[in-house]
Amino acid sequence: MNSLWISDSNENKLFDTKLLEKNVNTQNIFLETDICIVGAGIFGLTCAYYLSKLGYKVTVLEKYKIGEKTTGHTTAKITSQHGFFYDYLTKSYGQKFAKDYLEANEQAISNVKSIIDSEKIKCDFEYQNNYVYTTKKEDLKAIKKEISAVQNLGFNCEFVTKTGLPFEIEGAICFKNQAQFHPLKYLFGLCKSIQNQGGQIYTDTTVFDVKKESSDYITFSNNFNIKSKYVIIATHYPFINFPGFYFTKMYQSTSYIIAIDPKKTLFKGMYISASNPIFSYRTAKYKNKELLLIGGGDHKTGNPCSYKDSYGLLEKEAKKYYPNCEILFRWNTRDCIPLDKIPYIGAYSSMMPHMYVGTGFKKWGMTSSNVAANIIADMICGKKNKFAYLFDPSRLKPIKNRNELKNMIIQSTNSLLLNKLKSANMNFDEITNDSGSIVEINHDKVGIYKNPEGKIYAVKPVCTHLGCLLSWNDVDKTWDCPCHGSRFNFDGKNLYDPAFKDLEVYNLE
Ligand SMILES: Cc1cc2nc3c(=O)[nH]c(=O)nc-3n(C[C@H](O)[C@H](O)[C@H](O)COP(=O)(O)OP(=O)(O)OC[C@H]3O[C@@H](n4cnc5c(N)ncnc54)[C@H](O)[C@@H]3O)c2cc1C
Repeated sequence: MNSLWISDSNENKLFDTKLLEKNVNTQNIFLETDICIVGAGIFGLTCAYYLSKLGYKVTVLEKYKIGEKTTGHTTAKITSQHGFFYDYLTKSYGQKFAKDYLEANEQAISNVKSIIDSEKIKCDFEYQNNYVYTTKKEDLKAIKKEISAVQNLGFNCEFVTKTGLPFEIEGAICFKNQAQFHPLKYLFGLCKSIQNQGGQIYTDTTVFDVKKESSDYITFSNNFNIKSKYVIIATHYPFINFPGFYFTKMYQSTSYIIAIDPKKTLFKGMYISASNPIFSYRTAKYKNKELLLIGGGDHKTGNPCSYKDSYGLLEKEAKKYYPNCEILFRWNTRDCIPLDKIPYIGAYSSMMPHMYVGTGFKKWGMTSSNVAANIIADMICGKKNKFAYLFDPSRLKPIKNRNELKNMIIQSTNSLLLNKLKSANMNFDEITNDSGSIVEINHDKVGIYKNPEGKIYAVKPVCTHLGCLLSWNDVDKTWDCPCHGSRFNFDGKNLYDPAFKDLEVYNLE
């Protein structure tokens, strides 16, 4: 299911990604560049934007099309209000840390606006207030604590009891002068500027390895290899497992979004609820209409999910307040959540000098990607960045989120063991049309999907990333990894990182 952003960009032919494609199909061709950036989402392209402006020759390699993955499926609120966060940050890491985190993200909002102004990018950018609200009296204590934590950092936020939402609330924290935009129109604006500075962008190019060779790196892709002094891994979930070990420090979380035509005038502002069930709201322009985006239904990627608890939940919410609404788009995506809730930005590993990473944006990547791109550009230029210490990927701080760490270890161990031990979920004949399950055939586990007409697709249901047993996702008809969040289509095609290889496919005829 395509997002509003992807559908909108195609229809308006805002930017023909074919223009970016170069037919360099000969294996073993070596290109040379200063900086090789793997991944053309908001983080990779923001790095390419700043570094090409600084005079570096940049080359971006993208497995699919520009921004088609997480960035093309985001909600695209640009805010420093990352849910309830500043009370947690102050208590966990101290006031200076929390203040710097807030300042870094506030600065990111103005940086995004400056890029839009200087490059004249038409991307529906508009300032909006952002609210974390509650409809429950029992949340008010936490709201008051968060307000006092934010005010103690010297930032002006307000407690309000009235908002534009179509229902009564108990209270909300308001951050003024936050913003929203069309994320793909923004990315295409960045692409134009990168190309104008001489940068190159190759789509449909999958990187499968990066190796150090004397003082350079060689990046290996399906189309060609690239020699460069610097490499930036901007693949959302880092695909190099060792060194780095990012798969031990993060999990992925999926959320769902619907875009409705409310058939009514909408409110101003961007909103997210303070506690479960999480609902997120913002407006967006689409073909001279104003749509409402409603997000929610979060769960750990790879965990069981149903239509009722995902899109169903959002549709019910929409119909409650806009009974005549028309649902125009439904989509979902996932993001990396670091166990200590702080993104990883900086050197990939001390064993790989001049290789950098930005990941773990925990569903707040519109600002975090800009913070990350500035830190990495400064590191490459040898300049001190006052926010770099916040996000150091080599940090060894005690893990704050012990419960999730325990869950992750249990789930990964189970999934790896189940791959060897668990018997099949169902018999072949029990699988109904348009659904899937794992069955046992000749003592081997086989992932079976029967399409609506009964055609059978059979895959080896073992993740090509680190070998965990996959689980069937009946909402999207995909095979999902409960360990690290990779996803594959029912026919075995890899859809989402960190895996980048397709599943083995069986021919049952
Ligand atoms: C439902 C949802 C709502 C969200 N809403 C908001 C919001 O309102 N505000 C906010 O600030 N943040 C939000 N976020 C978070 C934000 O969308 C992400 O943090 C951000 O888009 C991540 O950008 P990225 O560039 O790191 O990843 P991506 O956009 O996924 O880009 C990575 C790119 O790397 C490519 N790639 C991967 N592997 C390879 C390979 N081996 N070779 C070549 N290319 C490769 C991929 O194809 C992809 O295009 C939301 C997240 C979710 C899940």
